[in-house]
Amino acid sequence: MNKRRPPVDGLCDECGFDYDTGDLQGTVTTLVRQSAECSMALTKAAAGPDADVVRIRPEPEVWSAIEYACHVRDVLEVQRFRIAQCLAEDRPVYAPMDRTGRVKQAKYEDQDPMEVAAALMRFAREFGAAARVLTPPQLGKLGLYNYPVRAPRSLGWIIRHTAHEIQHHRQDIINILAELEPPIIPAPKPAQPEEAEAGTTDDSAGLAGASGAADDGVGFVPPSRVSDEAEGLAGRSTGGSSAAAV
Ligand SMILES: [Zn+2]
Repeated sequence: MNKRRPPVDGLCDECGFDYDTGDLQGTVTTLVRQSAECSMALTKAAAGPDADVVRIRPEPEVWSAIEYACHVRDVLEVQRFRIAQCLAEDRPVYAPMDRTGRVKQAKYEDQDPMEVAAALMRFAREFGAAARVLTPPQLGKLGLYNYPVRAPRSLGWIIRHTAHEIQHHRQDIINILAELEPPIIPAPKPAQPEEAEAGTTDDSAGLAGASGAADDGVGFVPPSRVSDEAEGLAGRSTGGSSAAAV
């Protein structure tokens, strides 16, 4: 409850997203790529030796990888609807997405990771297609947004905020899985017995060759438990006036 909320402007020092840099096309390209990385991380973990690793919460109050992925998927869909709403209405007022309510109502923890991964990617492409074609006047159009306080926000800000959502939770998903997934490649043995050296050359070659590939994809620090705190961006499953989130 006392964790910091990710910011909604300036630089997020947890995930590195900066609301003040990058053009629209570059922001959307990064959003789609990072969505793909969320999708792939989930798919890879679900295809591993223990598919249910995606359902493990690192802490009771921190979402699991599948819960984060469902959230990212739903954010992409809701934000795409908001783009359409903003363009269609004179004075758009966005309905809250009820982030925390969805976790239980949609049974995030029970959803099929492969289906979630596919939908996440599809929604990212659809969001990207809707965002890329916005003109400068459209990007400046205001609507009443609920997070972090009820305030007018431009469509351009909604695009950036969505990109921040994806970048922030991509880090959460990858970090959580990196901590929970069993290593796919066995760790090297600490020491070879002296007498075994001569006779094991051939048998051990395959394993030794593979060991260099030890898990990748993860150039991140361990998951900061604080990163998911924010009501708007975040993965808290409980508490807070979350109805206003995102
Ligand atoms: Zn962030």
